[in-house]
Amino acid sequence: MIQLDLVLQILSRNMFMDGNAIKDFRTFKSPMYYGSDKDTYYLLPFRFHQISDSKEVLVNEIGDFILAPTGTATRIARRQVTKNEELYADLIANFFISENAIPDLIDVMATRYRTKKSFLDDFTALHIFVVSLRCNHSCHYCQVSRVSESRQDFDISIENLKAGIEHMFRSPSPSITMEFQGGEPLLAFDKVKYGVEYAKQLNETYNKEITFVVCTNATVFTEDILDFCLLNDVMVSTSLDGPSFLHNANRPKTGAKSYEMVLQGITDAREKLGYEKVSALMTTTALSLDYPTEIIDNYIENGFRNIFLRPISPYGFALKNAKKNHYHTQKYLEFYKKGLDYIIQLNRNGQFIVEDYTTVILKKILTPFPVSYVDLQSPAGMINNVIVFNYDGYVYATDESRMLAENQDFTFRMGHVQDQYRDIFYGKKAKTFAQYWSNESLAGCADCGFQAYCGADPVFHYASQGDFEGFRPDSDFCIKNMEIIRHIFELIDTQGESLLKIFYSWITNTEQN
Ligand code: SF4
Repeated sequence: MIQLDLVLQILSRNMFMDGNAIKDFRTFKSPMYYGSDKDTYYLLPFRFHQISDSKEVLVNEIGDFILAPTGTATRIARRQVTKNEELYADLIANFFISENAIPDLIDVMATRYRTKKSFLDDFTALHIFVVSLRCNHSCHYCQVSRVSESRQDFDISIENLKAGIEHMFRSPSPSITMEFQGGEPLLAFDKVKYGVEYAKQLNETYNKEITFVVCTNATVFTEDILDFCLLNDVMVSTSLDGPSFLHNANRPKTGAKSYEMVLQGITDAREKLGYEKVSALMTTTALSLDYPTEIIDNYIENGFRNIFLRPISPYGFALKNAKKNHYHTQKYLEFYKKGLDYIIQLNRNGQFIVEDYTTVILKKILTPFPVSYVDLQSPAGMINNVIVFNYDGYVYATDESRMLAENQDFTFRMGHVQDQYRDIFYGKKAKTFAQYWSNESLAGCADCGFQAYCGADPVFHYASQGDFEGFRPDSDFCIKNMEIIRHIFELIDTQGESLLKIFYSWITNTEQN
C-alpha cells in the first residue's frame, strides 16, 4: 500500500497532476457521463471522415452512412443535435444515437452485423491450385519466376494434387471454387483434367457446389481443351491489358504477338463456352498509366461489360523490373479516377460498362450483404476464404504469399499438402496471422471512418513495409483505399440520384432501362 502511494505521488509529480486527477484518469466514466439526461441521447459507436471542404461522412458499426455538413460529428458528440432537426431522426433510425442506454433495436443491429460478416461462416471457399510454373510468355510484371515450357519438373505431382483436393473437401464451405493457376496452367492440361475429374469423383460423396476456373493467357487452347471445359463447366479467366501496343509491351511472347493470340483465344472460348464464361483482367503498368480511356475502349470493343482497373502488386518477380512496374500510388489514383469518370460518362451515354473494384466497395456501402472479395475483407481473406496449393506441394496463405516464396521468403508458408488439415488451417502460423487480420484492431484502422468498407492485408504490409500490421500513414494499401472510398462518397454527394442509379446497376449487373 505504501508502495502504491509512493508510485502515485511520483506519477502525479511527473505528470504535473494532483492525486485526484490521476484517480479520475484511472476510473471508467459512469454511464451517466455518456448521456442519461432525458433531453439528450446516448452515442452508439460510429466513425467519420471528411470527404470535401464542406462535407463529412458518418459511418456506423454496420456500414450505414450519413453525408452531413462538416462539424456534424462534433455536434453529435457534444449532444447539440436537437429533436426538432431532421438529422436527429436520421441518427436514431440509422443507429448512430439512441434514446435508451441499450437501443430498442439492438437485436436488429446484431443481426445486421452478423450478416455483414457472414462471409466467415463457411470458412475457406477459394482453393487455388498452381499446377505448373511453366509459361510461354515472359511478362515483365509476372509475380512468379515462371520457367520455360519444357520444364515439366515444375508441374505439380499427382500425389500432391490429390492431397490438395482432399483438403479442399475438408473445408466446411458448401460452395467451393477450384481455380487453376500457373505459370500457364493449360501447359499442364493433364493435371487440370485430372484435378477436375478427381474433384467431381469426390463430390459424389460430399455434394458441394463446385465452380471450376482456369486462369490462362488464352494462347494455348486446343479443341480438346475447350471441349473439356464445356463438358465440365470450367470458366475461363484471362489477361487483357488493353490495345495491342500496350498488351504486347506488357506481355511479350517470343516469336509471336500475344495480343492477336489472346483475342483469338477469347473468341474461340466464347464460341464454345458462351460469352458469360469468359472474363478478363488487366494489370496497370507504368506504361498503362497514360491510357485509361484507350484501355476501357479496348475492353468495350472486345465485348466486355466490366473492367477491373487493377494496380500492380508489389510481390515477387514484379519487383525485379521496377522501371516498368513501379509507380507512385498517387499516379495510380489519377489513372483510376480518370478511368472511373470516363466509365461513368459512358454509362450516362447508354453504354453499360462496370468498374469492378468500385463495385466491390459500392456493395459494402450501399447493401447490407457480405462481400466475398478476398483482398478487401476484415478479417482478411487469407486462410478464411482462400488457400493456395503450390506446384511443389507447399501450402500458402494467399496467392501473393506464394509469390513472396519465389523470392525465397517463406513467411506465409502454412505447411505441406501432405500435412494434417488442422495443422495447416489452425496451426501456429494461422494463429499468428490472426492477430493482424482484422482492421477493427489495427492501429490507424481501428478509428478510421472507412473501416467498415476496407480490409486488412498482412501479406501486403509484410511485403511492402516489413511487418504484418503495417504503418497506415505511408501504407500504399491505406492510401489507395482511403482515397478511392473518399472519392466514391464525393461523387455520390455531388452527382446524387443520377449517379446512384448507375451504381445500383453495377451492383445488380443489370443495364438501366
Ligand atoms: S487501411 Fe486505411 S482506409 Fe482502410 S481502414 Fe485502415 S486506416 Fe482506413
